Amino acid sequence: MKTLPESFAAYEWAPSTAVLARAAGLDPVEIVRFDGNVPASPLPTSRPGALASALARVNEYPHGGYTELVPAIARYAGVTPGNVVLGAGADDLILLCARSLAGPGDTVAIADAPTYPLFGIAVLLAGSTVGEDAAAFTFSCRPNNPTGALGPLPAARPLVVDEAYFEYSGETAVDRLDEGVIVLRTFSKAFGLAGARVGYALADSETALELNRRQAPAPISTLSAALAVAALADPPDVTPQLEERDRLAQELGKLGLEPLPSRANFLFVPTPDAGSLARALRAGGLVVRVLPDGIRVTVRDREDDDLLLSALSRALDQPQDGLCNSLLQSRRGARHVRATAETRLGVRLALDGAGRVRVATGAGLYDHLLEQLAFHGGLDLVLEGAGDVETGPHHTAEDAALALGEALDRALGDRQGIARYGDAVVPMDDALARASVDLGGRPWAEIELEPDPGLAAHVLGSLAQAGRFAVHVEASGRNDHHTAEAAFKAVGRALRVALAPGFVGIPSTKGRL
Ligand code: PMP
Repeated sequence: MKTLPESFAAYEWAPSTAVLARAAGLDPVEIVRFDGNVPASPLPTSRPGALASALARVNEYPHGGYTELVPAIARYAGVTPGNVVLGAGADDLILLCARSLAGPGDTVAIADAPTYPLFGIAVLLAGSTVGEDAAAFTFSCRPNNPTGALGPLPAARPLVVDEAYFEYSGETAVDRLDEGVIVLRTFSKAFGLAGARVGYALADSETALELNRRQAPAPISTLSAALAVAALADPPDVTPQLEERDRLAQELGKLGLEPLPSRANFLFVPTPDAGSLARALRAGGLVVRVLPDGIRVTVRDREDDDLLLSALSRALDQPQDGLCNSLLQSRRGARHVRATAETRLGVRLALDGAGRVRVATGAGLYDHLLEQLAFHGGLDLVLEGAGDVETGPHHTAEDAALALGEALDRALGDRQGIARYGDAVVPMDDALARASVDLGGRPWAEIELEPDPGLAAHVLGSLAQAGRFAVHVEASGRNDHHTAEAAFKAVGRALRVALAPGFVGIPSTKGRL
């Protein structure tokens, strides 16, 4: 083994979700990671179906290279395929650039301290040293991790610009490839494919050829390439994340914190006691990145970010109105993910909610109906994901109901102290629905919808099955949409009564449910 300088420190991963969950006494699904700078969920394009043809030929090498992915990247980046170098994540390309552009005895400059630690690691692994004088090349991170700042492009050449967060900043140096600039990008951030390990370098064609000659023969799997191709066919719109970043920054300001201006999907929050703040957050299952002078927080979405704000306000002893009742703060709540070969659905549920609901699975009418049920059930619910809606809404609507039922079952725990029974009658114009529920733990569904828009009775039955409750519904009307809507509202109203706390102990003479 070649010896490494004393100063060499290998890249250190944060603890696994399983380890963090054990330490906090929580289920791993309850750990919310604000430390990875990745989106909260995969893109809708990251579905098992995207892998099918690659899986059918997984016994083969990517003969002839990545003939779909490389041109797709070139089109996306506005270059030619001859400018593209693939790697297993941007990390792989940082290492490739270092060993290709520098060697023993060389000096490599790293702009912007603090910055991404792998630059320094790559320099030392190449046998070079970090320094300013007569640098063989310079690394620059734009926007910079961990600060989020988008500094000026250094004048030094050759220059390797890490644009891992390019999609958030919209700023690139790709028009300078002919000036000795190499741009590094990744599918790990805006494209939500960190686990797939796909990145690329963009360089002038001569440099790209040389980098490819020095790269591993097949640096990414054909499965990962298929996911990246699917993602590029429908690139994400990051606008909602940018808006949420700015809202989060504002809310942090109200807590007396001063996050640095960020052009990425994270915020650096300076604080003198980063370690103890992070420990307090971790105890509640919220994980942030600890740095010497502050914490780095990935922007997730409004509901998760509100959890963080709420926990921070408690840790800083500054309770804020409106945050104390954030989604899933309640004792009776659940996070849940249901993933099958056909669908992936994430649920965040609070039983003692305020009707803050968002259902977005792509199943059209059935999303709307589940929203009605949750709203009238007094729940807070975020149910998001994607399914194979190209086959029709059946799988997605059914799995959405099963996912919600499973979350409900989890949130109810041992079902002590609930009213257990509930009923409701709900009219809607021409339609009238009557519903009663028993949360006693035995699944049963007697449902008559006349007319049914298609899957409404099946969706209610799936919910009852996974939620382990009995439901009786009779609904009729002249219009199928109204009939179904009245039925879902009535089940929601009945659930609200049955879920209400108030019964002392187990609501059964058996003494158990
Ligand atoms: N560069 C920067 C600046 C990063 O923040 C990260 C992710 N932590 C990477 C590169 C690594 O990206 P990848 O997953 O593509 O290896």
